[in-house]
Amino acid sequence: PFDAIEKTDETVKKDLSDYKGVWVFAEQREGQIMPVVIELLGEARKLAAEIGTEVSAVLCGENVDSMTDELFAFGADQVYFADHPELKNYRTDAYTKVIKEAIEKFKPEIVLLGATHIGRDLGPCLAVKCDTGLTADCTKLEIDPEDKKIRQTRPAFGGNLMATIICPNHRPQMSTVRPGVMDKAEHVPGRKGKAIKLDVSFEDNEIRTKIIKMVKETGELASLIDAEFIISGGMGLGNPDGFELLKNLAEKLGGTIASSRACVDAGWIDHSYQVGQTGTTVKPKIYFACGISGAIQHLAGMQSSDYIIAINKNENAPIFEVADYGIVGDLYEVIPTILEELNRS
Ligand code: FAD
Repeated sequence: PFDAIEKTDETVKKDLSDYKGVWVFAEQREGQIMPVVIELLGEARKLAAEIGTEVSAVLCGENVDSMTDELFAFGADQVYFADHPELKNYRTDAYTKVIKEAIEKFKPEIVLLGATHIGRDLGPCLAVKCDTGLTADCTKLEIDPEDKKIRQTRPAFGGNLMATIICPNHRPQMSTVRPGVMDKAEHVPGRKGKAIKLDVSFEDNEIRTKIIKMVKETGELASLIDAEFIISGGMGLGNPDGFELLKNLAEKLGGTIASSRACVDAGWIDHSYQVGQTGTTVKPKIYFACGISGAIQHLAGMQSSDYIIAINKNENAPIFEVADYGIVGDLYEVIPTILEELNRS
């Protein structure tokens, strides 16, 4: 099927050999580089090594030049940075204009963005402006050193199959990549690179959106991405109070609680705790699945955990197919027993 696409697409005018290098969009918020950028730099280094090219980060903001060292330390050979008051906070039109111009000028072969709220907005806008394609929400990237085309894999049809997509005739090849899926880049303090300042200017009224006020979300929100131990609960908890029991185990292990979507839909817990295809993708050292059946959409968000421990009273629950350790039993008996043992040691 890929050959067929290549032969029939006669609209292509770009000379693909002009495009070189792997770019990572260095998303920052209030001067903090987002964790997904470090994962993308790790992935970019692997892709770049396969095709013998360099890794660059592209950074936008105000007073961001001091952040370039961190990007070099995490593996960027170059940082293209745009410094302008209009870029202080993310806005679609401003960021799209600056990065599109940089892409047209420097012609990267591959552009990777995190599948964050910002990346999911910026990626498609850039792809349209640059007349190329975008594969959204990738969970795996591989490159063929011969044809330099990335095999971009992402869940499709409600997570029921994994689709592998290539971008045959357009450049750059663009992907948004789910946070928490790729390995983080190694941090080498003092690693040097080249900082290249981008020219930025905006015409009057060119940016059509204005930030009037920033309102920060308050209340308890989950931080699952970096957790080493996740104690996740499903409908088997029976009621929202069941999460209190999971919190006891999480506190004992220094971890955090999480949830299946069914509990979120039932209003038992905030969506920020949801793991899975339409929630967060996690990769902890240990993932406890307590009273979770193991639907494919849930597995899509946790099956690359180092160890999975499932507690379920149904010995045929699909979660046991991916679990490293399975405990068949009532979680209200099993978890107190685990806590008792941990308190004893
Ligand atoms: P259930 O399937 O009801 O399972 C409850 C389990 O608890 C059962 O296995 C039962 O044996 C066990 N149990 C009951 N009582 C006990 C007890 N006392 N002790 C031990 N075990 C017990 N789901 C997600 O989680 N994340 C997603 O991101 C997600 N995205 C989706 C996207 C789409 C497009 C669709 C269609 C669905 C999505 N879902 C997602 C929903 C998913 O298909 C399942 O419906 C959901 O994961 C089921 O949640 P659960 O395992 O908590 O509940």
